[in-house]
Order: sequence, then structure tokens, then C-alpha cells
Amino acid sequence: MSDIQNLIIPLEKEILEVLKFYNNNSYSPYSKFKVSACLVIKQGQKLIYIGGTNVENSSYGLSICAERVAVFKAISEGFVSDDNTKWLYIALYVPVENFITPCGACRQVLSEFNHNIPIVMYNKNFNKKILLLNEIFKDQFSPKDLKEST
Ligand SMILES: [Zn+2]
Repeated sequence: MSDIQNLIIPLEKEILEVLKFYNNNSYSPYSKFKVSACLVIKQGQKLIYIGGTNVENSSYGLSICAERVAVFKAISEGFVSDDNTKWLYIALYVPVENFITPCGACRQVLSEFNHNIPIVMYNKNFNKKILLLNEIFKDQFSPKDLKEST
């Protein structure tokens, strides 16, 4: 975990600004549960921050989580993880007491691009907890599984 800490600490101030900005933009009139995410990507020597927020809908099932918004934005912008583009970690901020982990759908979507991405969760006091995706999402269904069927 200390490698992850070394990665996070120098960027923390900036990441928290991104998380606060997107948390403010949360569209959550039904749940009032504001979530923001920031995907931190390294492409060559450049760091890229992709923010996202949860977007709810009056047809509840059409709502989408902040994590998936960030992931889909990153892919749309061309930041597919490859030899030159590393998805370093995803930071989450939910202004509640507990540390909120990604839901099952977001775990699956994240695993497509980095099966063991560190997840940095901030609570309302900006305390943080770090978990690796593998710890909370074992035996992942992956692109490899599809290749084995052909
Ligand atoms: Zn989710």
C-alpha cells in the first residue's frame, strides 16, 4: 500500500478539488446521495484527471454512478489503458460518515480496464481509505473469458 500512498499524496490537493467540483454537480434530487469520482490516468509523463458525478433520473433505473461516468468519459476521450496509458487509481468522494465503495456494476466496468485499480475513498471529513479492486471484486469476469470461448 505504501506505493499507492506515494502516488496519491503529492496529487491529493488537486484530486480533492476535482472531487469537490464534481460533487457539487451531482444530479441526485431523489436519493440526495452525492457521489463524485476522479479517475487518475498517466499517459506518457502527463497526468490526466477525469471527473464524474452520479446522474439520477425520475425513471430510477436509468440513473448512473459517478464511477461509470468517469470511466465512460475517459474511454470516449481516447484514454484506453494500454502500454502508454495507465489507469493509476480512482478516487471517490461521498460526504457521509462511512467510506463508500463502488457498486457491483462499477466494479465490473472498472475491471475491464484495470482489474486491480486502487480505489481511494474519501468520507465527509476527507479521511481516506484505500482498497484494491481485487480485494473487493474477486474472480472477475474478464475479456479473457470471452477469448477462451472462441
Ligand atoms: Zn456504481
